Amino acid sequence: MVAPGITGRTRPTKVKKQAAAQKRKRNDVDVEKLEQAVAELDPKNASYKDFTDLPLSEPTKQGLKSSHFAVMTDIQAKAIPLALKGYDILGAAKTGSGKTLSFIIPVLENLYRLQHVGVDAGLGALIISPTRELAIQIFDVLYKLGKHGHMFAAGLVIGGKSLEAEKQALTRMNILVGTPGRVLQHLSQTVGFNVDDLKMLVLDEADRILDMGFQRDVDAIIEYLPKERQTLLFSATQSRKLSDLARLSLQDPEYISVHAEDKTATPKSLQQNYIICPLQEKLDTLWSFIQASKKSKILCFFSTAKEVRFVYESFRHMQPGIPLLHLHGRQKQGSRLDTTAKFSAAKYSCLFATDVAARGLDFPAVDFVIQVDCPEDADTYIHRVGRTARYNRDGRGVLFLAPSEEEGMLKRLEAKNVPIELINVRQKKRQPIKDHLTHMCFKDRALKYLAQKAFITHVKSIYLQKDKETFKLKEYDLEEYSASLGLPGAPRIKFLEKDKVKEKKQASRATIELLGSSGESEDEENGLTEKKAKAVRTKYDRMFERQNRDILADHYKKLIRGRDTDGEPNSGNEGKNTKAVADGNEDDFLAVRRRIPAEADLSDAASDNDDTSITRAQKVVHLQGAAQPLIVDSNRREKLLKSKKKLLKLKDKGRKLVYDDEGNPHEVYELEDENDFKAKGLPEEQRQKYFDVERERVQEADVEDKAAAKAKRKEKMWKRKQRERMEIEEAEDPGVELDDNGEDALANFRADAEFSDESKSDGGKEAQKKKPNKWSQSDSENDHKSKKRKKGKRNVAQHTVEEPRTLEDLEELAAGLLG
Ligand code: ADP
Ligand code: MG
Repeated sequence: MVAPGITGRTRPTKVKKQAAAQKRKRNDVDVEKLEQAVAELDPKNASYKDFTDLPLSEPTKQGLKSSHFAVMTDIQAKAIPLALKGYDILGAAKTGSGKTLSFIIPVLENLYRLQHVGVDAGLGALIISPTRELAIQIFDVLYKLGKHGHMFAAGLVIGGKSLEAEKQALTRMNILVGTPGRVLQHLSQTVGFNVDDLKMLVLDEADRILDMGFQRDVDAIIEYLPKERQTLLFSATQSRKLSDLARLSLQDPEYISVHAEDKTATPKSLQQNYIICPLQEKLDTLWSFIQASKKSKILCFFSTAKEVRFVYESFRHMQPGIPLLHLHGRQKQGSRLDTTAKFSAAKYSCLFATDVAARGLDFPAVDFVIQVDCPEDADTYIHRVGRTARYNRDGRGVLFLAPSEEEGMLKRLEAKNVPIELINVRQKKRQPIKDHLTHMCFKDRALKYLAQKAFITHVKSIYLQKDKETFKLKEYDLEEYSASLGLPGAPRIKFLEKDKVKEKKQASRATIELLGSSGESEDEENGLTEKKAKAVRTKYDRMFERQNRDILADHYKKLIRGRDTDGEPNSGNEGKNTKAVADGNEDDFLAVRRRIPAEADLSDAASDNDDTSITRAQKVVHLQGAAQPLIVDSNRREKLLKSKKKLLKLKDKGRKLVYDDEGNPHEVYELEDENDFKAKGLPEEQRQKYFDVERERVQEADVEDKAAAKAKRKEKMWKRKQRERMEIEEAEDPGVELDDNGEDALANFRADAEFSDESKSDGGKEAQKKKPNKWSQSDSENDHKSKKRKKGKRNVAQHTVEEPRTLEDLEELAAGLLG
């Protein structure tokens, strides 16, 4: 267990200080030269081919060299010079064409030339990504490029971690990568998170960030940021909506669309096919495909997290002979990160994912992207398929389309210049897995539950799709689909049932209206309608009219049949039915279960109900305090007699009286004696006087209220500051603490640590020796997290790990950039 208050942080030595000063001095010279070179840069010049052609700082050059980046891609050659010169940019280039470096390099360079470094400088650049995985990836690129001498502090805020742990480090950050929700959370909650001097805002996958889902968060973030800043937007599918650009207050942005003239919107090295596959055959086809491609790296997209889980769990049990992975937004952050790392590193693997993996992720060497569920639109298709064939590599995309989706989706894809070809599935090679799944679902209730959820969420996702031309819910065979998941029957779907009832209601209303209007002429002849319309319609009449209710239809029909044939309601079966009602055994549905005797005077009960079709006797109850008597003609009314609360509503409202000193009752508002009123002066004067007195009273009360509110606010702020001060003191206290025996705890601790150096298993002490990580300081209070640290990745802090694996590693790296 780590002793509280001990951070193990040491002050920089004099030598280190001198080295830093020396470096800064060298930078000054460097900066002036760079400024001049950037000023001379001609962004329209197409001769910039290599990174070395650009005026870049030494640390960036080093970073590029160590990552073996030499020749620029098209988007880089066009965007970087403009961005270096401070232009706002809207950059569009195909997936996998190197957009990340197009903004990372300018961020590092522009802040470098401004020497926007150190704790006091505050946040200089904010990079926003739509998903956590992409944010981590961007951070990784930033780290790899920046670690060769840049001294910025960079951080990653993506949610799924303790907010408090991030708060402390944030105040020192110069560059921040994050997701919109978390960034906003910090902007609104973290005291001392200073963005007033922000120089650059970058939105990667900008069209996604600017769309509806993130609108509120992004608008709120923009509110916090200074208007005078450089803004860079990048995406493979860029929206040019003026309203979006206005929201970001872009200043004469430069549009860079390097592939606009290309015939296709997707990479040239990408081969794209689609197959026609009914919903109920998708899993068979997918399974067979995986079986035939075990020596590949496959990424499969589904529309919902529940489907991903079901397919992952069920396929896993069937031992497919290829490592399976799954990724969706409902997983814990740790496993999400773990999965992305595993899939990146894997040679052969199959990852089932939702659209969280659709954008930006750069998994190396993916062979196939299979879109098992049709994407919501052509843009999503382009992004999903863009996970393969990245940076001039080959790749294949296969889209599964249900027959009803084909026409609509192909139209959308054509409009976006996506070349795609139909291929056939070899039916001979298709291995049906339905029986296997049915067996598994039968044996394993958890799996069956997953299958049900997968079914329901999938149907719901189709139901909610905006593109109704492509997604026509009625065209899918849902019974067959549920059977293909191994379910014995299609689960009930509430929203569909509601819709059906609504439709039926509307249909029955429409037929009644139709009957009403079309039958008019006939009925006029025999005067039947008139008679019917005039007759009092009771609850039971209405019930009988509801023929379309499917659940009770048979029963109603039986009852109605008697009425229809004999012309009299239930005359044929009346005796039998009323008997059943009285006995309450044969047909429960109309049985009176409980009869509540009315306490009221029954002599008033209406004796004849000849004009209505009910057999029940009506009772008239005179309620005390009610002007109108209550007619009890139904079960519901009888029940009502039992509820005092409900009866209150039927009673008349009472009168409010005010009593004077002598005990005489008065109305609340009484007219004054006319003469008295006149004696007091003119009405207008009296009015004015009344206003004056009341105004004065309100003003006095207002002053008091404001003072009270101010005091309350002050107290609250004081308390908060006090709390934060204590937290900071706790965190920053170098830890010279005396223990119970009056000894120096830190000295003891260090001595212990030295002794136990060999016993690496003693992770708690080793963790103390690690280079301190500001973000994980507060984690040390958390036992669970400290355990993770105990695993002791000391080498991470020493910058020797090239492939960060856990979130903690990444955060260690973040602090590492402090230099
Ligand atoms: P995008 O954001 O356009 O989809 P990325 O920035 O993720 O693409 O880059 C795709 C891949 O191309 C990455 O693996 C990256 O390392 C590589 N890459 C980018 N720029 C270059 C370059 N100039 N030279 C070589 N590889 C590059
Ligand atoms: Mg990208």
